[in-house]
Amino acid sequence: MQINETLVRSVVQEVLKRLGSDGAVPPGPSAGKFQGRFGQFTCPDEAVAAAREAFERLSRRTVEDRTRIIGHIRRIAIEQCVELGTMEMQETKIGRLEHKIEKLKTLGERAPGVEFMRSEVFSGDHGLAVIEHGPFGVIGAITPVTHSLPTATGNAVSMIAAGNTVVFNPHPSGKRVAAEGIRRYNEAIYRDLGIDNLMCIIVEPTLETAERIFKHRDINLLCVTGGPGVAKAAMQQAKRAIVAGPGNPPVVVDETADLDRAARAIIKGGAYDNNLLCIGEKQVFVVNQVFDAMMAAMERAGAVRLGAAEVEALTKVAIATVGEGEHKHEVPAREFLGKDAAVLAQGIGKKIPREVELLFGETDESNPFVPVEQMMPFVPFVRARDVDHAIEMAVRSEHGFRHTAIIHSKNVENMTKMGKAVDTTLFVKNGPSMAGLGLGGEGYCSFSIAGPTGEGITTPLTFTRERRCSMIDNLRILGK
Ligand code: NAD
Repeated sequence: MQINETLVRSVVQEVLKRLGSDGAVPPGPSAGKFQGRFGQFTCPDEAVAAAREAFERLSRRTVEDRTRIIGHIRRIAIEQCVELGTMEMQETKIGRLEHKIEKLKTLGERAPGVEFMRSEVFSGDHGLAVIEHGPFGVIGAITPVTHSLPTATGNAVSMIAAGNTVVFNPHPSGKRVAAEGIRRYNEAIYRDLGIDNLMCIIVEPTLETAERIFKHRDINLLCVTGGPGVAKAAMQQAKRAIVAGPGNPPVVVDETADLDRAARAIIKGGAYDNNLLCIGEKQVFVVNQVFDAMMAAMERAGAVRLGAAEVEALTKVAIATVGEGEHKHEVPAREFLGKDAAVLAQGIGKKIPREVELLFGETDESNPFVPVEQMMPFVPFVRARDVDHAIEMAVRSEHGFRHTAIIHSKNVENMTKMGKAVDTTLFVKNGPSMAGLGLGGEGYCSFSIAGPTGEGITTPLTFTRERRCSMIDNLRILGK
């Protein structure tokens, strides 16, 4: 057969043109206005328009395509966790590098995806009613500095699994790594499936861009992950918000606990990423009967105990007061938030080995480290008369956030009593806090835990609206 060289050359040229000189796929004739942006926007209106366009395209794709899309996000989060985790550490300057890397990988591996989607059916004399879970559309999402790209990654997986697209307004101190991750995810998806901007991100985020996203008429749902300010702002909006708000997780240790196991768990959870996790152990209430033994167990497990004068000195430098009048309150000092235990120790003139993960010391209930979500690796230990007193103080310190609480005990009645009293979304018994998110415990993992609005540990179903499809008097294949 004679080969038409001119035809071959023109086909090759066309293919090369479509691939671009660097292999990038340029927008085809049916491409939307924003294709090739890979989700990067300065203007919220443009970001929302691009995400809307992407939503329309995603709506015409199969569930298998969604799995493929999510597969790219997972692959990049897992394969590039070292590079991206290092970028996150360098940009935010808080937490610990190994955990920045691990968090991104974990979300890549374990964020709930398409497999969580399901339908329910009512089958009876009058036929069938099928309840399906459809997407909301475009979601406006706010992410915290404590886990900037990991939160965006987990949110993206679950939101896209449900058929949504998303516009992120990241924390300004974690904006670059979030934008870079989103760019990589979009680019890989675009190359494989030809859809861009399933995730859009505001590259210069401010409170004003957040407000514009909150109020945008084309944003169908909000999902915010952060502290009290943003939680309150989201709940005041005129549209539905899924609010993953602040925590201040208390730990109770009763006289029946395995103290060495409890100490190891408290160090593992409370020191993880320098105590930046919203679920991380923040204050411990130990019954008097085993208080001294528990302090000894903490030292055996490798934590460094501060004496009374050292605790006082640390409180002075590491807790700051902000606001005026009725708004006056205590917060973690910026210089110590998310820093290593050695840096905290240095702040009070104490030298400890760099490998020390956690500092701890005895305080009373009124020490600010107890009510403040300190997000640093010093955990106050408070002496309780008995388990009822410990639970009572634990509940007070949690502030009704209903986020996370932990107990170390072998007494099922004490566990039950605390579970009822503290009424939190996560209640962990005899393990580190993260075991409650499936890391060393059962269940799935998400970094957006919606306490205030009640959705709990978010999954794709969190980001759906119910739709009922009814077949009247037919298709029930059972009986008469
Ligand atoms: P933060 O509240 O300072 O910021 C969170 C995000 O909200 C950022 O993107 C910030 O720019 C934005 N923001 C703040 N105030 C806002 C407002 N008024 N309007 C719009 N946007 C606003 O919190 P952070 O330091 O980034 O993160 C730590 C906090 O987040 C802790 O309180 C922690 O408990 C909480 N958190 C909760 C969860 C959860 O799943 N519940 C997960 C991670 C972190």
